Amino acid sequence: MTQEKVDLLIRGGYVLTINSDDQVFPEADIAIQGDKILAIAPKLDVDAREIIDGEGKVVMPGLINTHMHETLPRGICEDLPLNRWLEEICFPLDRSYTHEIMMASAMMNQAEMILAGTTTFIDIYRYPGACAEVAVNSGLRAILAPQIMSSPVGVGESVDSAEAFVAEWSGSKKHERVIPAFGPHAPYSCTPDDLDRIAELAMKYDTPIHSHLSETLWENETIRERYHSTPAEYYDAHGILSKRLSVAHGVHLSDSDMDLLSRLGVSVIYNPTSNMKLASGIARVGAMQQAGINVCIGTDSNLSNNNLDLWEEIRLGAILQKLATSDATVLPCSQLLRMITINGAKALGLDDQIGSLEPGKRADLILLDLSKPHLWPQIREAKNNTIEQLVYSANAADVSHTIANGKVLMADRQMKTLDLKDVEQKVILAARQLMANAGFSK
Ligand SMILES: [Zn+2]
Repeated sequence: MTQEKVDLLIRGGYVLTINSDDQVFPEADIAIQGDKILAIAPKLDVDAREIIDGEGKVVMPGLINTHMHETLPRGICEDLPLNRWLEEICFPLDRSYTHEIMMASAMMNQAEMILAGTTTFIDIYRYPGACAEVAVNSGLRAILAPQIMSSPVGVGESVDSAEAFVAEWSGSKKHERVIPAFGPHAPYSCTPDDLDRIAELAMKYDTPIHSHLSETLWENETIRERYHSTPAEYYDAHGILSKRLSVAHGVHLSDSDMDLLSRLGVSVIYNPTSNMKLASGIARVGAMQQAGINVCIGTDSNLSNNNLDLWEEIRLGAILQKLATSDATVLPCSQLLRMITINGAKALGLDDQIGSLEPGKRADLILLDLSKPHLWPQIREAKNNTIEQLVYSANAADVSHTIANGKVLMADRQMKTLDLKDVEQKVILAARQLMANAGFSK
């Protein structure tokens, strides 16, 4: 048989494809050519320029973090209710970023995600141009939604600054891994006029829209007072609800809101840690799924989580739903893995390219090292426990390799695209500057 030479071969791993049949290969090779998966099969007869030994490891699609903000500080605003958390800490910080501070912040966030096995993320925050530059260099797939706030002024991006970013990264700076998007912050912080413009611009540039929706009861009451509708109905009245929209939280969606979102193809992102920590409430994930909504999982920001570890997020998210519904059967393990892979890809309209391991798709994948006591024993007999071990016992540090678009971003826990020592120095200086700009320094 002729020997083909491929760019990268992952040999002998336990492969979870997360394809439509949740196909598992107990031992298979994955051949990667350029940015794509060429073949997945046991004992591929190919030669490769680079080989990664998958023995004793799980190989699965790269994780998709469908809601986060690339913020810099953490641990400085604990134990506050959402309104004080926003007004006393977040807003002064949000208005104090500069392009340079954001560069350092994006490097830190993207390094943390690579180390945790995330290969695609949706960021809704400030200075998206800085985040985009960092993503080009880090190797991650980034969906960047400038966080638009009509009020208070200066805390977020404006429709104009967002359009300038989208135009630039859809045009002269277009990059295959950077997808510009529009990010109306929330129903209570965006005016009807701004929402109308965002809906129009998203169609014009054919971009995703990402937002927060029905996070708190306060939000629902405020929108009821202002517009006599639910937050979802308010967005619908301004053309925001469509397949291109994904929304974080959805904690206080009514049954009819869920029907509306389902009918219009809106995806919802469940953020259990953030919702618990800010005491926002418990999203009705089962009801959303029953209504036919595509539900994904995100970490939210380092200010409300305080990490970007999707492994922790699925574990807590599942346990919380079981407790809240008094039903231990909700959110089974295989479903949780889909929520941080293929469902995220669907939310972005990228499910034909990423989210599962299939020949022809982009080579976005990760390896997890199972050779640790907290992941023992791996049982491969009748009662196989690998997926369950990942959901309930694994953590970010178990990810040994992260590969995005065919490029190795981390191998054996060593970063390949970002220099962590350099990033740490930049983060220390940026944090000092940000705190001073926000008036938090002595
Ligand atoms: Zn958020």
